Amino acid sequence: MAAPTFSGSAGLFSFKGIRVFVHWSFSILIAWVVISGLMEGHGWPVIGKQLLMILIVFGCVVLHEFGHALMALRFGIRTKDITLLPIGGLANLERIPEEPRKEFLITIAGPLVNLAIVLVAGAILGYHWVSNAFSMPDENAPAWATLSGFLVAVNLWMFLFNLIPAFPMDGGRLLRSALASFMDRARATQVAVTVGRVIALIFIAVSFTFRMPMLALVGLFVYLAAGAENRNVRTQHVLRGIHVGQVMRTRFWAMPGTATVQQAVDELLAGGDQDLVVVDGDAVLGVVRRKDLIAAIHFQKGHEPLRNAIVHQPPAVAPTADANEAYMILLTGQWPLLPVVEHGRLMGVLEAENLAEYLMVKEARRSQG
Ligand SMILES: [Zn+2]
Repeated sequence: MAAPTFSGSAGLFSFKGIRVFVHWSFSILIAWVVISGLMEGHGWPVIGKQLLMILIVFGCVVLHEFGHALMALRFGIRTKDITLLPIGGLANLERIPEEPRKEFLITIAGPLVNLAIVLVAGAILGYHWVSNAFSMPDENAPAWATLSGFLVAVNLWMFLFNLIPAFPMDGGRLLRSALASFMDRARATQVAVTVGRVIALIFIAVSFTFRMPMLALVGLFVYLAAGAENRNVRTQHVLRGIHVGQVMRTRFWAMPGTATVQQAVDELLAGGDQDLVVVDGDAVLGVVRRKDLIAAIHFQKGHEPLRNAIVHQPPAVAPTADANEAYMILLTGQWPLLPVVEHGRLMGVLEAENLAEYLMVKEARRSQG
């Protein structure tokens, strides 16, 4: 089973092959509700009700994320997992489509789920309102009326909050895809990221003024995530039309699978690389990272052949392959490097770092004029 996107997450359930995880930091939220409830002198029935409300809110968050994930699935894009964090949910899509229309539809599907809940719960609330002489549910109202009132409030808030154009929140993605329909995608991302960063700073300022710590966290997350997305899109832009062979590293560390772990460690100490490509003649068997070697030594497997220590078996790419596609594979974070193979022969390796260096050189050349 694949590891969750955020380490320290516990699996809850899966639907249509999409696993839902809850991050450990969620327990801080629960503890905070319980402790602050006890300190304010509330009894367990009140605290239990608050916990139930959190459960309902995050139930709506899960439905929102499945809105994105199921729409993505319609375009053949799988979702690795959905993780619940105290600040909200994150659907980790395998990739974000470059076509503005697809990105728009996948993004809008989340908030539309909330809008649908508002409409259904609102209709139930409306029924209660009309049949009770036009009065809103009070403490004597039946549970279904109270619940539908709560669902309307929560989902209306989620719908509106997500539409704030703070990239990479949904509103920011909608803005980017709208801009990308008439301008270059890298430029559109830059604009959306700048708007997002300004809003993130406003979030942080507001959170200090009104003492809303959650909003500060959201602001910080938006600010950092916006930068990461901007870098990715710029990389994709620069790599357009570039082949793997142009950016691969031809000097790399390789050893036969029959060599022992100890021999590899000796080479590592003599100045080896971070990653070792294990080969059998010309064929690639897999990759062993430095920490895998150290772990093997720790478990006293120094005398064992290297082939037994292989942890990663990344897919091979051809030198003629599109560098952008290889970059997308590397972006999943699943593989330390990709072996570049032509006619069954190992020609080089491709790492995220090679691409970063390539970009730096290209930028330096450009600024040189
Ligand atoms: Zn969303």
